[in-house]
Amino acid sequence: MILGNCFLSGDYSASKIKINSAGKMQINGAYQDGILDVVKDIKKRLTKTMMFYGAFMLPGSFKLTELGEDIHYAATLKMRENPTKKYELTKDGEVAAMLGIYVVDGAALTTLPAKPHSFTIMANADRIAKNLISAIKEKNL
Ligand SMILES: Cc1cc2nc3c(=O)[nH]c(=O)nc-3n(C[C@H](O)[C@H](O)[C@H](O)COP(=O)(O)OP(=O)(O)OC[C@H]3O[C@@H](n4cnc5c(N)ncnc54)[C@H](O)[C@@H]3O)c2cc1C
Repeated sequence: MILGNCFLSGDYSASKIKINSAGKMQINGAYQDGILDVVKDIKKRLTKTMMFYGAFMLPGSFKLTELGEDIHYAATLKMRENPTKKYELTKDGEVAAMLGIYVVDGAALTTLPAKPHSFTIMANADRIAKNLISAIKEKNL
């Protein structure tokens, strides 16, 4: 018997995290519209693939997680080619509204990928730090 877990891209999430006017963190969980059609399609394709290998899905065993059952968080301060919002980052990880402040953790990702993202976070942090060091050396600071 195999137990499986499918992760979808953060593009399917409509969850938001924000600091409200009282200074408290507020998390609202939601899926994007149309998620049920996506899940239905995944189930269909998974069932077909499993049947190809002689395996069967137990009736009632495939389900979408309830909001809050599992969580991966990232992309709260997204990197953008041309940042337009106050807390967006440049592609070099610099906060657009606070020049000189760089973000190198999971918050800087543009979206939450459908795969484990720790190595992506590490690679991005490495890229931003190397670019910053080169820029500092170039300016002879
Ligand atoms: C149970 C679990 C399982 C996971 N499994 C996987 C997996 O298998 N594969 C995968 O890719 N990802 C996995 N993840 C996700 C991954 O661990 C995170 O996405 C990743 O660690 C995020 O990195 P980060 O640098 O953005 O933040 P974090 O690793 O959360 O680092 C934030 C750091 O900031 C520190 N900090 C917080 N507040 C302050 C403060 N005020 N002052 C100073 N320091 C502060 C914290 O102590 C922490 O060290 C898992 C996460 C969890 C919780």
